[in-house]
Parts: sequence; structure tokens; C-alpha cells
Amino acid sequence: MSAQILDGKTLAQKIQAKLSQEISANQKGRPPGLAVLMVGDNPASAVYVRNKERSCAAIGMVSYGRHFPGDVEQNVVEEEIERLNNDPQVDGILLQLPVPPHLNAAAILYKIAPEKDVDGLHPVNLGKLVRGEQGLRSCTPLGVMQLLQEYKIQLAGKQAVIVGRSILVGKPLALMLLEKNATVTIAHSQTPNLAEVTAKADLLVAAVGKPELITPAMVKPGAIVIDVGINRVENEAGQSRLVGDVDFLGVSETAAFITPVPGGVGPLTVAMLLQNTCDAFSLNTKVQTG
Ligand code: NDP
Repeated sequence: MSAQILDGKTLAQKIQAKLSQEISANQKGRPPGLAVLMVGDNPASAVYVRNKERSCAAIGMVSYGRHFPGDVEQNVVEEEIERLNNDPQVDGILLQLPVPPHLNAAAILYKIAPEKDVDGLHPVNLGKLVRGEQGLRSCTPLGVMQLLQEYKIQLAGKQAVIVGRSILVGKPLALMLLEKNATVTIAHSQTPNLAEVTAKADLLVAAVGKPELITPAMVKPGAIVIDVGINRVENEAGQSRLVGDVDFLGVSETAAFITPVPGGVGPLTVAMLLQNTCDAFSLNTKVQTG
């Protein structure tokens, strides 16, 4: 069997085209604004931030990003967030993670006004997710849900296994799948017999950060496999390439659906960030005018 590819890149383009149309048709006097804050010179973060800013510009959104030196003091970042919270041009604020260890990332995230928290990491938004209420939700899990919806994959009654329990991906995704009536298991680094757990999954999500951890033997035939991982690996000639947490070629032989890396979940994360910023814009402009 050869799995059907879940094409995140094409879906992301479709979502971005729709947002672009909405922005150019909007009569509210200003475009949506997004501030991406980055600290230090982590090369992977720099690539992500550049992609986000380019995608912003491509759909007619304005970027208000700031790049701080690696030794910036906590209060300087927090004061900038306070300023952005009060800036009526700014609808979304995102802190690019990780930040250098001398900073308290959680304290910075808590400073972001919940209505501008487009990464969905503020406790108010996480709390709303737990309660099943509307609020800004974490972009990567939201992207996974969009992809499943686009391919009309039914979740009710499915056994879903997520490998990885981060606050950014694994935990919020578990709640979103639960909301759709999947039966959810979260596995992690302390889970014994991981292969036995994953082999029971109708829907298997890998969000670990370990290149090709998920092998064909760990996957139930006919499963839906979502690979969130992004890992840079080098071959013997020193050339680098991106791979996911799933052995894509091997697992494609067993699974019914699979996401590629790159071109799967990654582009949807950016599309959901733009979507969240547009949603925050709609709410914020409604508050300002109403
Ligand atoms: P974290 O490092 O925060 O979490 C990794 C999780 O994997 C932890 O829960 C950890 O368990 C678990 N884990 C580690 N090793 C194993 C193992 N051998 N077996 C089972 N579980 C294991 O990572 P993130 O959630 O932030 O990211 C995960 C991956 O997704 C990374 O590759 C990241 O680059 C990628 N990513 C991709 C995005 C996209 O847009 N596609 C967006 C965000 C992340 P424990 O809790 O016990 O330590």
C-alpha cells in the first residue's frame, strides 16, 4: 500500500489566499498587524521569523517585529510587550521560542494580552481550550486539525496516539482531538513499550524532535500518520536536509495517509498564525468601533 499524502503546503496556500482577499476587502481602515519578537541569534528561529514576516507581507498584513540582542534584560522584553499590548495597530504578539536561558519565557508569555496571544500559550487561552470555549489556540495543533478536516478524516471513535506532551503541540492537540470525540493517548519519553502504544493508533501524531523515530513496525496498517517533527540531519557528504519524526518512505508503505516533511504541518503552522492574527483583528476592531 502507498499512503495518500496530506498536502499541508497546498492547504496553507489556499488559506493564505483567502486571508489575503479578506484583508484587501476589509473596510476597517487599517490592515491587521502582527509583532514577532525574537531574542538572540538562533539560526533556526531566524529562519522561522523571516518566513512568518514574509508570509505576513504577502497577504497584506503589517509586521511590527523586534529583534533583541541575546543578552537583553527580562524587563526590556516585558516593557516592549506592554507597549505592543497598548498599541491599537497591533493585533497579534508572538514570542519566538526558545529564548536564552537567562530569560523567564513563561513570565514573558504571561505578559501578552490574551486577546493578542496569537500563539495561544497564555494560561487564559489554554484554560479556554480545556473548557472547550472559543479563544486563540496554538497554531501547530490548529494546523493539524485543519489538515484532518480538509481531507474529511472522521475523528469520532478513533484511537488517537500523540507522541510528545509539550505545551506547544502535544497537550493542546490532545484537547482538540478529544473535542472531536477521538479517544486520546499521549505518549512521552517515559512511556514504556512505545511501539506497542503507537501500533494501536488509528491516528498517530509524532511531535518529538527525534529524526525518524517512528518506524513502519510501530504503525498500524491503514493508520493516519501526522509528522510534526522538524529535524535537520546531515549525510556523510556533510549535506543537510530536513526530516520528520517519522520514517516517511517506510511508513508510507503501511499508512493510509501521511504528512511529508517539509510540506506537511510546517506551512500550516504559519497559515494558522496569520489566521489567528486576522481573527484577533476582527475582534479587536469590533471592540474599537463598537
Ligand atoms: P519538545 O522538546 O518540547 O517536546 C518533545 C516531546 O517529545 C516531549 O514530551 C518528550 O517527552 C517527547 N519525547 C522525547 N523523546 C522521546 C522518545 N524517545 N520517545 C517518546 N517521546 C519522546 O518539542 P516540541 O513539542 O516543541 O516539538 C516537537 C517537534 O516538533 C520538534 O521537532 C519541533 O521542531 C517540531 N515542531 C514543528 C512545528 C511545525 O510547525 N511543524 C512547530 C513546533 C514544533 P518528555 O516530556 O518526557 O520529555
